[in-house]
Parts: sequence; C-alpha cells; structure tokens
Amino acid sequence: STSTSSSTTVPHNALPPPSTTSASRSSRIASHSHIKGLGLTAEGKALGESAGFIGQTNAREACGVVIELIKSRRFSGRALLLAGAPGTGKTALALAISHELGSKVPFCPIVGSEVYSTEVKKTEVLSETFRRAIGLRIKETKEVFEGEVTELTPSEAENPLSGYGKTVSHVIVGLKTVKGTKQLRMDPNIYEAILKEKVVVGDVVYVEEQTGAVKRVGRSDAYASSYDLEAETYVPLPKGEVHKRKELVQDVTLGDLDAANARPQGGQDIMSVMGSLVKSGRTEVTEKLRREVDRVVKGYVDQGVAEVVPGVVFIDEVHMLDIECFTYLNALLESPMAPTVILATNRGNSLVRGTSDIVAPHGIPVDLLDRCLIVKTEGYTRDQIAKVLQVRATVEGLKLGPGVLDRLAEEGERGSLRYALQLLTPASILANLNGRTQVEVEDIGEMNELFLDAKTSAGMIAQGGGYTGG
Ligand code: ATP
Repeated sequence: STSTSSSTTVPHNALPPPSTTSASRSSRIASHSHIKGLGLTAEGKALGESAGFIGQTNAREACGVVIELIKSRRFSGRALLLAGAPGTGKTALALAISHELGSKVPFCPIVGSEVYSTEVKKTEVLSETFRRAIGLRIKETKEVFEGEVTELTPSEAENPLSGYGKTVSHVIVGLKTVKGTKQLRMDPNIYEAILKEKVVVGDVVYVEEQTGAVKRVGRSDAYASSYDLEAETYVPLPKGEVHKRKELVQDVTLGDLDAANARPQGGQDIMSVMGSLVKSGRTEVTEKLRREVDRVVKGYVDQGVAEVVPGVVFIDEVHMLDIECFTYLNALLESPMAPTVILATNRGNSLVRGTSDIVAPHGIPVDLLDRCLIVKTEGYTRDQIAKVLQVRATVEGLKLGPGVLDRLAEEGERGSLRYALQLLTPASILANLNGRTQVEVEDIGEMNELFLDAKTSAGMIAQGGGYTGG
C-alpha cells in the first residue's frame, strides 16, 4: 500500500450508498429533530421541559428506568409498549431512548402495516428491520504518520496547485519538527524524498499519489509563521518510531452488510472487511447469506475488531401486525443479538389480526404482552401544545405573529397536537405567498377552512353531512 495516500479518516465511499428506504426513514424522523433525549436528571426525574421534551413526565421517567434495564442487560427478551392516543409523543419517546443509549445507536422505525407488501414476506420485513437495528463498530488499526500533512484549503490551493491537476493528492505545508529533539514524525519514504528535495519549513510540497514522489513547488511563509517554527532541515528518526498506530472506527449495521454482500458492486471498503463473503453475484438477502454474515461478524467480534452496538426497533401501530408476525416477533426477541424493541399502539381491547376470535388488550397476543413493560402516554394541555409548537417553529425557522401560538394551540386541543403541528408549514407557505415572512392568525384561519382535523372529518361523516351528495 502507498503510505503517501494514507489518511486518518474513513473514506466516504466506505459505506454502501444509502438505500431509498433509509432516506425515507430519516425523513420520517425529521419531525422529531428537536428531541435530543429524555431530559432526565441524574436521579431519573423528568424536568418539565428538557432535551426538547415538553411534559409527558411519567412516561419519560418510566423510559428512564427501561434505559437502566437495557444498560444493565436486564431487558433482553422483553419489549417496551407505549400506549396512548395519536400524537402523544410515542415516536418521540422511542427516539429519545435511542439517543440516550448512545450517539451511534441505530434507530429503525416501522409502522405495523408496512409488513404487508406484495413483494416481500411479512416476516422478512420484520427480520430486515431487526438486522438494520444491529450496529457494528468496526475498529481498524492503521499505521499512520504524524506530521503536518494537510489537504489544501481552497485559498492555499490558488497558486501552487495550478499545473499539478489530479495527480496530486496531498500537500505538506510547514512540516513540523518536534523542537528540542529535532524529530520528524512521518512516513520514512516521504521523509527520504523530502530530504532529497531539501525542503524547509514553510515550503509547499506535493506528494504524488501514484509514485509517492515529492515535489517542492512553493513557499507559504504565512503558514510557517502561524506554526512559529524556525526554518530548519530535518533529522531522520529511527524507522520504528515514525509510524503511529491509530484506531479508525467505522459504523455499519448488519442490514448494511447483508445488502452489501447481496450486491457485491457497492461499498468497496466493507467488501474488504467482509472479503471472505463476496464471491457470487447474489442479489437477494437470504437466510443463508445472513448466517454467513453473522459468522464472519462473530469472528471479528471475537478478535476484537468489531463491537456489536444493539439499536432500537420501533414498531408503531403494532396492532396492525397479525398473529404470524407476533409469533415471529417473539422468536426475534429471543435471539441473542436482538435490538431493543419498542412497540406503540393507540388501541384498547381489539381482535388480534389473523385470528377470528382472539380479542386481547391492544390487539396483542398475551404471550407477547407478557413480555412487555407497558407505559402510557398522556394527552397534552393547551399550554403544553403551545410549547411544542413553539419549539417546532423555532427549529423550522418560522416566525409567528401575535396570537398565532394561542390559535394553533386551540386547534391542537380541539384536534390533536399532530394536527396543530401539521398546520405550521402550510400556514408559513401561505404567509410567503402573501409576501410575509411571518405567519399571522389569518393564515391559520385560512388553513383551517381548507383542511379538516380527523375528529371534525369523522364527525361530519357520522352526522351524514359534509361528504354526502358529492
Ligand atoms: P402516532 O400514534 O400517531 O404515531 P405519536 O404518539 O408517535 O403519534 P409523535 O409522532 O411522537 O406522536 O408526536 C407528534 C409530534 O409532536 C412529533 O413531531 C413529536 O416530536 C412532537 N412531540 C410529541 N410529544 C412531544 C413532547 N412531549 N415534547 C416535544 N415534542 C413532542
């Protein structure tokens, strides 16, 4: 390998390109971007307003307990069930839990009804979601050289770069000696080349990626003086000391590895990590492939190269799953590498889908319910709705005129928090159309005439009005 092109960062092409499904998933959680965590004190008490969370204190504290259980590995084989009306923050709580578990913890939300697809088996959808929720932190130890090896900033690139085009990969500016010891820490090959060129501090040097050849092409006195170094030539170091071992970390999920191995053209770096797997031109993720991926991953874990980072699977509207899925879910919960499972529902007693006569709380079979810790989410007061609206408006950079918050909160109380939040963006578009930067009460009024909240809409149907007669 050419030491000249060594870099301390993971190349951008290391990961397989994000699939369209993951793009749609990140947009799905965009509306929760203000949620940074559960906002609990060290004692586990929920503050009224913290980490973007408003109210819902009981549920947040209960989730805090669940986090303790997860962290002390006493939650395996179990699931958290969030029960509450739409728009009471169930998704927000699940996301907050994943934040609390760590910054690189995968969060995989799906809605129960997503398992019903004409192309993919129901259990397959669940299985894939679970795989995407298992993160892997791959630690590679690479030899890197220390020294002031800098990539050109645009302004530095202005002059000296011209004429060197694409063959030049790096520039070394103001090579730094460790004063007193006169040691230069860098790759011995480059070092030798630099000695030949008689480079001094402040010189701009190009290292050609292909050959490792070094060319002195200019001076950067400003850069040199910013490092406050004397111009001096360098003294060689014994070879063993110039290299430094550095740990590079890359985060992937089992789902990424499955997909990358099913489509061997993507994600070259992962390919090399998983080198032993890439042989045929498989296009489908099979159980066999998954087992192979697991086997290789286990090997890396045993060697200490990779570390498993269990993430969070969030299944919203879990009552939409059927008995077959519930059975499969039970099995997935049992597996040794299971992520944390959070379920959400707004149903009371209902028929378990796929059965003709089993009625169970939340439409969830008792054997699964038995494994669940159930946390209830409460409705919001008008004041709390106003606060959430204000947080969202700030995050989205919307200016609200006098009375707008009150008016929206009123709508939220009558309809739901979700409805009030959904009025925000179209109202701001309307304000824009009218040449204003600020949303005014009249925009909200107009929006309300155009759109209905769910309760009103259902009410109109129930009364036989509104929708009849075309
Ligand atoms: P559904 O049952 O329809 O899936 P939900 O209970 O999951 O709804 P969310 O989607 O979490 O509700 O909440 C709707 C919106 O309100 C989101 O943007 C969410 O981030 C925000 N939100 C809900 N509760 C709170 C809260 N207590 N503090 C701050 N923001 C909240």
